Amino acid sequence: MIFSLGSRILTTVDPLCLAKVAWNFGFKGGRSVLLFQQRMKKGVYFPPFLYVSILNSCNLRCQGCWVDVEAPRNAIDLDTLNRTVNNAREHGNSFFGILGGEPFMHPGLLDFLAQHPDCYFQLFTNGQFITEKVAKSLRQLGNATPLVSVEGSTSVSDERRGKKDVLNKTLRGLRNCLDQKLLTGVATSLCQTNIDDLLSVEWLQKLIDMGVHYTWYHTYRPVGPKISPELALRPEQITQVRKFVTSQRAKMPIAIVDAYYDHNGKALCPMATGISHHVSPTGAIEPCPSIQFATENIKDERGIYETFTSSAFLKDFRDTAAKHTRGCIVLERPDLVKALALKHGAADTTVRQTAIAELDSMTPRTSQWVPDEEIPEKHWMYKVAKRFFYHDFGVYQGMDGK
Ligand code: SF4
Repeated sequence: MIFSLGSRILTTVDPLCLAKVAWNFGFKGGRSVLLFQQRMKKGVYFPPFLYVSILNSCNLRCQGCWVDVEAPRNAIDLDTLNRTVNNAREHGNSFFGILGGEPFMHPGLLDFLAQHPDCYFQLFTNGQFITEKVAKSLRQLGNATPLVSVEGSTSVSDERRGKKDVLNKTLRGLRNCLDQKLLTGVATSLCQTNIDDLLSVEWLQKLIDMGVHYTWYHTYRPVGPKISPELALRPEQITQVRKFVTSQRAKMPIAIVDAYYDHNGKALCPMATGISHHVSPTGAIEPCPSIQFATENIKDERGIYETFTSSAFLKDFRDTAAKHTRGCIVLERPDLVKALALKHGAADTTVRQTAIAELDSMTPRTSQWVPDEEIPEKHWMYKVAKRFFYHDFGVYQGMDGK
């Protein structure tokens, strides 16, 4: 598996893109996690993987989306983005996840990427704005990987994403990325209407045949203003996803990303471990994208390192989540999320200003943590990578693994 994946990447990715992913993401990203661990020992938390939603606008209307895509545009200006990345870089960071809305609708996106040739960016996109020209620019820059979301067959894509001809337009953008030899991924939010089609060997083979290099299976999270509880996966399906991912990682020449399990298959929350936090389109610093509350903003004059590391709000969220569950505090304990937001007098960071009411309306449910169903990694590459760079960092001590 590893040799055919390696040879596929080496022969189908542009040399500059390869060099940037190896150095900016592989080497420097790994080093940023080691620095994160060193800081943790001193009780200082600054996330090595910062996710930034650079604007709220989007051309699609996905089921269950919690971003205010129909509200007037909020976008983080270029100066603020540059200052944020520069400040994070001074503290050893090199990797940034860029989200929206649809990030390619931000008029300064390519300029922003060009300002940071020594960093690496993962662009969460529906792919529809990636024309041949845009893909060529990304190739020249070399420091970004598009992660294109595909949510199912033609009819499922239209239904889930609220527009017509979604799949064709998305596949066109994906094709442009692959034609320009970008390191390219496909992300899917698994739910009841696409799990049978997309959690399958046939789908992975189709991605491989297209030339896609990696995929990321999220699971649909029923949070926000337009919850579709009927789409959520059942606990046995969450276990099915984990089994499929670990077994196919060992067999198929495509990398499969996940963010919710360590090398032993124990569940974790990237917010609770502190490895990742989120910045909203207004610059609000949120624990994670689905917790839309904040007490601080990246525009704070102190700079983001000082702001993150001195945040009592973020600390309380990390500690409370780690104390109560290895899974998702939002899905399992919306009452705790509300209590923390109220305790800290946190601002509702949504335009709609209904975040508390949304928590009140949620029914607690199972998340990625299905106790006694741990499924360890099978392939040594994932085992080693997670063992050193992606695990729970000891934050769940006292929970006895549960
Ligand atoms: S709180 Fe839930 S949605 Fe947020 S990072 Fe943790 S597991 Fe993911």
